[in-house]
Amino acid sequence: MLRISVFLFLMIQSVCFANDQARLPLNDYFSETWNTRSGLPHNSINSLAQTNDGYIWVATWEGLARYNGREFKLFTRSEIPGLPDSGLRSLSAQGDGSLYIVGARGGVSHLQHGQWHTKPQAEAMVNHLLKTNTNELWLALEGKGLVYRAADSDIETHILINLSAYRLIQDLNGVVWAATSDGLYKIENKKARLITADMGLPSDPIYTLLLTRQGQLIVGGERGAWKLSNGKFTPVHQQLNDESISSLLEDDHNDLWFGTINNGVFRLSGFGLEHLDAKAGLPGNRTLSLLQDRENSIWVGTNGGLYRLREAPFSSWTKKRGLGSDYIRTVMSHSDGSIWLGGSTGLNRMHNDHIESFSLVDSDKPLSVLSLAEDNSGGVWLGTYTAGVMRVLNGQIHTVINRDSGLASNEVRALLFDNQQRLWLGTATGLTRIEVDGSLTQFTTKQGLPGDFIMALKLDSKGNVWVGTGVGVAMFNDTLGKFKGQLFPRKFNAEYAFGFYSQNEYMWMATDRGLIRFNIDTGDVAMLGREQGLPVDKLFQIVAQGDSFWLSSNRGIIQVNQHQVNELLNNSQHQANALHYQMYDEGDGMLSAQANGGSNPAAVLHKDGSIWFATAQGAATALPERLKRASQLKLPTVIESILVDGKNTPLITKDEAVLLPPGSDRISFHYAGLSFIMPQRIKFQTKLLGYNDKWVDRQQLNITEYTNLAPGKYTFMVRAGYPNGQWQENHKALDFVIQSFFWQKLSFKLMVFFSLILLFFGLYKYRLYHYKKIEKELKLRVKQQTRDLQQQTDAFAHQASHDQLTGMPNRRAFDNWLAENFDNIKQSGQPLSIAIIDIDHFKRINDNWSHIVGDKVICVIATILQQCCNDNANQVSRWGGEEFTLLLPNKTATQAVEICEQLRTDIANYDFSAIAGGLHVTVSFGVADSSVVDEYDRLLASADQALYKAKNNGRNRVEVT
Ligand code: GH3
Ligand code: MG
Ligand code: MG
Repeated sequence: MLRISVFLFLMIQSVCFANDQARLPLNDYFSETWNTRSGLPHNSINSLAQTNDGYIWVATWEGLARYNGREFKLFTRSEIPGLPDSGLRSLSAQGDGSLYIVGARGGVSHLQHGQWHTKPQAEAMVNHLLKTNTNELWLALEGKGLVYRAADSDIETHILINLSAYRLIQDLNGVVWAATSDGLYKIENKKARLITADMGLPSDPIYTLLLTRQGQLIVGGERGAWKLSNGKFTPVHQQLNDESISSLLEDDHNDLWFGTINNGVFRLSGFGLEHLDAKAGLPGNRTLSLLQDRENSIWVGTNGGLYRLREAPFSSWTKKRGLGSDYIRTVMSHSDGSIWLGGSTGLNRMHNDHIESFSLVDSDKPLSVLSLAEDNSGGVWLGTYTAGVMRVLNGQIHTVINRDSGLASNEVRALLFDNQQRLWLGTATGLTRIEVDGSLTQFTTKQGLPGDFIMALKLDSKGNVWVGTGVGVAMFNDTLGKFKGQLFPRKFNAEYAFGFYSQNEYMWMATDRGLIRFNIDTGDVAMLGREQGLPVDKLFQIVAQGDSFWLSSNRGIIQVNQHQVNELLNNSQHQANALHYQMYDEGDGMLSAQANGGSNPAAVLHKDGSIWFATAQGAATALPERLKRASQLKLPTVIESILVDGKNTPLITKDEAVLLPPGSDRISFHYAGLSFIMPQRIKFQTKLLGYNDKWVDRQQLNITEYTNLAPGKYTFMVRAGYPNGQWQENHKALDFVIQSFFWQKLSFKLMVFFSLILLFFGLYKYRLYHYKKIEKELKLRVKQQTRDLQQQTDAFAHQASHDQLTGMPNRRAFDNWLAENFDNIKQSGQPLSIAIIDIDHFKRINDNWSHIVGDKVICVIATILQQCCNDNANQVSRWGGEEFTLLLPNKTATQAVEICEQLRTDIANYDFSAIAGGLHVTVSFGVADSSVVDEYDRLLASADQALYKAKNNGRNRVEVT
């Protein structure tokens, strides 16, 4: 049910399409050829297919080629793993977008989602593969009959043996038909039955099969083609009975195409049976395959290469199609809807593709026509190269005027009827006007024309006649009755004016330096030339159509947008090379890109919307509608490959992001727009999500490269379109990820970050510890130094109050103590005695022994004197020299004397022999107590007096005052 409705839909669609697009005669198609020189692996084009993604596939003996409109990509045994041989016999594109390829050595392979799945080898070369509606694979084998493999099975079952099977087809009832060397087999429920002569089919080999959209079976064989209706086969066309039919095609108009084994191609259509062979441009007469692509181009695979017929934007009318000339100089759109064409060898009128020729009334000589004009009653006038002015009357050409009858020159390049129906004639030697009464008026440079070589004449919107010459332009003002020279401004450097176009207040001029716009109201003049981006210097004719200007040139037809042209001309500060244009040439169906323009009119917009140009090879005509249609075709975009740093990266067409290795620096995307009508004009836009969100114009470039992308996730998007068309919703997107090096990863960066923080924290802690340590050391040192200082101070203090030799308090200590304490002791009523001790005849000790011995004696005496201080408050000091003092607190004089007496005895009895042999030392004591004095110095003086007494009394004594 579903299948039937799909079929109906296809039928309805195709019928609509057929009505919408008029069928062209076979020789009106534009043809192109490809062969091994264009990149095909072999010139025998065994099979052709188009997959759902839009690619055209070409099977040859040297492998498979995939065509994207610009180039062929090859698939051989190296690219298709497991394929036993690169020689391919047939292609079967499937509804699910996949493609089966079969060929030499029994090779079968299946391309699905961009990946090849090679199936088990068949017994012999596979001529054709059919996947049935029950998913069985049927294989037509060379010499080995017909086998099938059940769905998802590799086991083969023979249906036919010992014959060559060439082609298989399944009809709407599920019946499989097999074209074989024995003839046609009908296979129902796996049972094959040979179709015999009683059904109308001769017992010849059958090569090819076709099921039309209406479900009719067409059979091509060794001797012709047959169609099956009501159980009978009847010849499709008697003329084909002599042909061996190797391939069949039904096109979008439901016309049938027949490829033959050695006689090119036939088409059966409303035009009858048309023939196309090597003489007409087919690269080989042996036809191997036929295909109509989704843009309705017809592809023909021959033994000499690939050939394509397509409806090009332009088509050309030449002698071959019935014109009198190939070199067309003038084209005129007549008010009756016909087109008049004048060329080097004749004049033609075309109406509804019917061509009429005109000859001279009195001669068979071919006429060289330069210019045409229509009068207000529809009469056609022609200017000729060598015979002056003529007109068409009753289907024949009659002379009107020539040099013999007063014309300045027989070379008439332009004709113009003005508003008063006066006929202006532009000749090679001046301008002539035929007045209504038939009289002539001559104009040359003497009357103000800039030059005598006249190429163009035009009326402006105010009725003035404009004259284009070889040295500029002049305008004839009727009210003034004279010419106003409108020489181009010198800066334009233009001289020739080849053509005019009048548009309201503007007169447009096609010159040898570009397009000039003259404002007839203001006199303003502006030029569009090379500087603004015009691709040529010399323009011949201007045709305005829709919002376009069509400009003819020696290099092709240039289409520009009127609005943009005006904008560029209005703005003197315009950008250089800002002009957008389309240029059409041989690649677009013109037989010659060289348009003619030295006479008028040489380009014209016809009533039916077509535009006509006089060219060096016929009249080229374009239907802007057809161009528009081409630009509105659905145009699939494909991403073909990614190159990372020059290396191809596999592209899997599943929904996974492509992973690119870390450090991927230069990433280039190759893509294509799969249209084959004007592939060279397809333009692209790309976008890289993750980088920015803007479509970037890539013009016709099919590669986009990105460098230095940061690691991360991106989506590359590309869309294709035709110029002047809106962008279609046909973009392809590809996700990819540039992986990061470990140091580019966030985790690593975080780790580094935290490590740094840790490090700084560690450093901070270390510094802190270090400073604390230093502080501690400093404190210690300060403490130490303080202690040292204290010790030093103590030492100084000790030194100041103690004697160095004996270590006992010195006189200062004694005197200070006495001075500080005397009053207190006195007040307390406590007794205090002092004694001054002096070594007797010490001078002699020094003298007799030595000072060292004397010092030792002092030390011994000091030691002995200290005995009395060890247990009590007594204090002994060295008072100076060999004198000592003894403080005896709480001792009365009597007690003091007693202590002193004991000391004196100890000293006198001391054995000094350890110091010096025979040394005896005695000391004298002077004792005084405080009871007898009031001041401490008096106490000292008193003790000194007692000492003096002891000395005087014989020494070694104790005396008291
Ligand atoms: P007298 O019995 O009258 O005291 O006789 P003297 O010789 O002891 O008295 P004098 O005052 O004439 O001499 C004191 C001497 O003591 C003078 C000095 O050379 C000596 N003398 C003083 N101090 C020291 C000292 O520290 N060491 C030594 N070896 N001799 C000293
Ligand atoms: Mg003395
Ligand atoms: Mg003495």
